[in-house]
This record gives sequence, structure tokens and C-alpha cells, in this order.
Amino acid sequence: MSLDKRFARQAQNEALFREVNERIATLGENAQAWSPDGTVEFLCECGEEGGCGQRVRVPLDVYERVRSQDDRFVVRPGHETLEIEHAVEWSDDYVVVDKIPAAEPYVEDDPRGAPSS
Ligand SMILES: [Zn+2]
Repeated sequence: MSLDKRFARQAQNEALFREVNERIATLGENAQAWSPDGTVEFLCECGEEGGCGQRVRVPLDVYERVRSQDDRFVVRPGHETLEIEHAVEWSDDYVVVDKIPAAEPYVEDDPRGAPSS
């Protein structure tokens, strides 16, 4: 089972935004003044071509939970791409999506996990 090229590229884009958000998360942890309620503005990880550029407000503890699995991402509500992921958690501010098995190889290079080959 392989993915359409377009969706493969989108999945790779999502992995790229994950890298950016990892830096934002580090900043958020180091500067609680930015997020007195523990909520940080991350970039939407929907992987739209070039990035949708929108922000998504996610509590740090939720973000940490998402990052504990390398095939999960946070996007703005409505930014899910059903061809490569399905929603597992919703709020007014964000949606947590889980990659379908066919998309996992494109995103498994988690920045916290093993180095890429
Ligand atoms: Zn988006």
C-alpha cells in the first residue's frame, strides 16, 4: 500500500512543521510568562503546501502527549486531511490527528526519536 505523491509530500511537510513546533515548545517551557495558563501558540501542522501559516493554541501537556507518539500531529479544526490521518481528539482550538498506516513511514523520523537513516 503506497500513498499518492501529493499526500506523501504533505505528510513530509507535517514532519517539517513538527520540527518548528519542537522549538516553540522549548521556548514555551522556558518562558512561562508567555503562557501563564500553560497554552502555547504552535504552528498548525496540517502540512498544506508551503504551510497554512495559521496558529493553533495547544496546552503544553497536550502537546507533550501528542509528541509521545511519532505519528500524531496537532492541527487547527478543519485542517485534517482524511486521506492520511484521522482525528483522535478535538477541542475548539485544536484537533489531534493520527496518521493512517500508509502515511506513517513519511513521518516516523521523530525529532525526539532515533536518528534518521
Ligand atoms: Zn493548517
